Amino acid sequence: VPKRTLAEAWSMRVSETPEATALRYFDAEYTAREVDTAASAIAVGLRRLGVRRGDVVGIQLQNVPQFVLVELALWQLGAVALVLNPMYKQRELATIVADARPVGLVGAEGEIEAAASMLGDLFSGWVLTTREYDASARDSRMPDELGRPVAGDLPQTDLHTLLARHQGETPGQVELSPDAPALLTYTSGTTGEPKGAVASHANLLATAESTRQWLDLRPGERVLAIAPLFHITGAVAVAVTSLVSGAELVFIGRLTPERFLQAVVDYRIQHLCGSITAYNSLLDLPAGNADSFQSLRTVFSGGAPVPPQTVARFQARFGHYIRNIYGMTETASACIAVPLGHEAPVEPSTGTLAIGVPMPGVRVRVRGSEGSVAAPGVQGELEISGPSVTREYLNKPDATAETIVDGWLRTGDVAILDTAGWVYLVDRMKDQINVSGYKVWPREVEDVLYEHRAVREAAVVGRPHPYSGEEVVAYVSLRTGGVATSEEIRAYVKARLAAYKAPKTVVILSDLPKTATGKIQRRALRDPSTDLQ
Ligand code: ATP
Ligand code: MG
Repeated sequence: VPKRTLAEAWSMRVSETPEATALRYFDAEYTAREVDTAASAIAVGLRRLGVRRGDVVGIQLQNVPQFVLVELALWQLGAVALVLNPMYKQRELATIVADARPVGLVGAEGEIEAAASMLGDLFSGWVLTTREYDASARDSRMPDELGRPVAGDLPQTDLHTLLARHQGETPGQVELSPDAPALLTYTSGTTGEPKGAVASHANLLATAESTRQWLDLRPGERVLAIAPLFHITGAVAVAVTSLVSGAELVFIGRLTPERFLQAVVDYRIQHLCGSITAYNSLLDLPAGNADSFQSLRTVFSGGAPVPPQTVARFQARFGHYIRNIYGMTETASACIAVPLGHEAPVEPSTGTLAIGVPMPGVRVRVRGSEGSVAAPGVQGELEISGPSVTREYLNKPDATAETIVDGWLRTGDVAILDTAGWVYLVDRMKDQINVSGYKVWPREVEDVLYEHRAVREAAVVGRPHPYSGEEVVAYVSLRTGGVATSEEIRAYVKARLAAYKAPKTVVILSDLPKTATGKIQRRALRDPSTDLQ
């Protein structure tokens, strides 16, 4: 596959299927040509605002079509999209803005202006607003902004005004290398402070191509954007892949379980790629007649461990097998996944489900404790190389040098490879618990907790202990209607695992602390200053 820029890849798609729907927001549909026309007009407007090749522009939006329009516009200009979680409060935003130095911010009217002004001296760029739509009104025809003007006095820096003003204009060609930066995404902050990973056009298109092949994604098929576009999975494996593969990307705004379930049925969705939290949330809904997901062809879960019990429950209820997909911000998302036609095998010594096999173009290896490449069956740190791996963290030369060594990315994850090429993820290196010299991997204990009928979510951490060094503590939340005491849950695990792995304490919480991308955050549970309910 020749290296391209995103603008080139997108324009090939537009010329192949100009009249096919590219974006959908509930019942509003937009063809590839309409999207392209709107993105070009926005690009002209952004250039008037001063955006130049290499500039960083922040986008802080829910999953709405404008997100993609602005990204496509930035990529036409050779600018870099910095994706920001709409839930970020001032402190989180300030940390990232201070690091990334965006020239402008795009966000929801009434919110982004306020956020920008609170940044004070940290931010002196422009702000472009777009209206918040009530996505719960199922027929809301949001993109008046796609060039169908509505009446009203909107501020000059409103996306609508910008579109109307530059309707029909194009920004022209910008000289750009496929190795130029396209997307700046911060890691989830599960193990430490978030780091900005710079992804090039070539990085993103490498993931898009391997994901297209892996999903067997065909032009015209519908992909539901359940993963947020401000995180790497939604940004790349879902959005970029759909855009350049001729698929239809379906948006339903902010995700709720009810809306998720309904959208799969109403829009006859073929592909889902999201977090295990999202699939788990469907299982908490009362059973109804929408439970036949007949249109679905693939269901992938990435970003966090997939408990076997959740896979089994989902299959029993919805008739579809959840395939694991492993990726990192640093690998522009998906790089190891369970192939179609296969179910993940279980590793006999640790009981973990395989996360898959390397996707096209990806190479993996496991580095043993002595630093040499480990033999099959031996645990060590997972390392990845391939065309989707980032070249660097922004402004962090030390972290870059520690993480990317001789073209191999050190993942910080412990894995086992088997002779058939399956990869098993044991856990995160930093989360290992040491009980009197016995090593405990939290994930193994969590898998057992998930088997308990009443448990919705579980997290296991080590707590300092004067004699044993650390002791195992479990935190769980319960299913709607689930009833169990801490002591019952503790006994349940104790009956199924070696005594040193069983939690000394089980704490029941109404919800577990999560990162901004929705991952359960063990780090917060270890931190005594965290406010738990
Ligand atoms: P930080 O790097 O800031 O600590 P993070 O590693 O959670 O946060 P991401 O880049 O969003 O940030 O996530 C990548 C990590 O998520 C992987 O290193 C791995 O630990 C975990 N992960 C991703 N996919 C899977 C999967 N399918 N199964 C298990 N774990 C996964
Ligand atoms: Mg990480």
